[in-house]
Amino acid sequence: MGKVALVTGGSRGIGEAISIALQNAGYSAVASYAGNDQAAKAFTEKTGIPAYKFDVADFNACKEAVAKITADVGPVDILVNNAGITRDGTLQKMTPEDWQAVIQTNLSSCYNMCKNVIDGMRERGFGRIVNIGSINGQAGQYGQVNYAAAKSGIHGFTKALAQEGASKGITVNAIAPGYVETDMVRAVPEKVLEKIIAKIPVGRLGQVEDISRAILFLVADEASFITGSTMSINGGQHMY
Ligand code: NAP
Repeated sequence: MGKVALVTGGSRGIGEAISIALQNAGYSAVASYAGNDQAAKAFTEKTGIPAYKFDVADFNACKEAVAKITADVGPVDILVNNAGITRDGTLQKMTPEDWQAVIQTNLSSCYNMCKNVIDGMRERGFGRIVNIGSINGQAGQYGQVNYAAAKSGIHGFTKALAQEGASKGITVNAIAPGYVETDMVRAVPEKVLEKIIAKIPVGRLGQVEDISRAILFLVADEASFITGSTMSINGGQHMY
């Protein structure tokens, strides 16, 4: 069996494409999800990839899940921190709950997951971590102070952890997707979406495979000199 590759939020959207790409490339892919049992069941039936249900915002739940995955499948060599949510609204309308939920799910999750795999990676002298940021963490976005702050935080987290892992064979990189056609983006009102697409130089939304192919590149054994980087995949919308 290939190296164990855990993808948080790996049962739907971008994460699903990442899980499948990793499996097709010979890794032992494992996905996690939050609560959509129906989607997770359909995903596992279709792919054979196990899906573990736990909240990435909850440190102890992550600790227990990593221990279970290690026992069931093997130690995690590759971690893709992909799980994320939006709770959009201008600052005036944003509740403390909306702020906390987005920070915890998108940013604290990176701590919660990395903290529970890093010792094993250091001991084995190998690790690949990819965190999914966002164009809106690079450029900001109206109505998303919570999301932009969390994603921007991911980019700093990535660079700091990359420095800590570098001498131990652990690379830590981020991908900053632009607008990719998933449930998250389908939830955006059509008129807003039309305006967004008009600003994308390649003239279309991204597809999930546009992101998963970059993951394969970053997690490869041969990618050992690429660390602390952010790959922007956005159709030319924001060159950063
Ligand atoms: P999505 O279709 O909404 O799927 C989100 C996935 O994350 C689902 O598997 C979901 O599980 C899981 N998840 C959500 N909250 C979780 C939690 N607390 N604990 C564990 N799992 C959780 O999202 P997506 O559009 O594929 O986005 C994936 C990532 O890319 C996110 O980090 C997002 O911010 C980022 N991103 C997306 C876009 C875009 O245009 N789509 C652009 C830039 C960045 P359930 O199925 O159980 O709900």
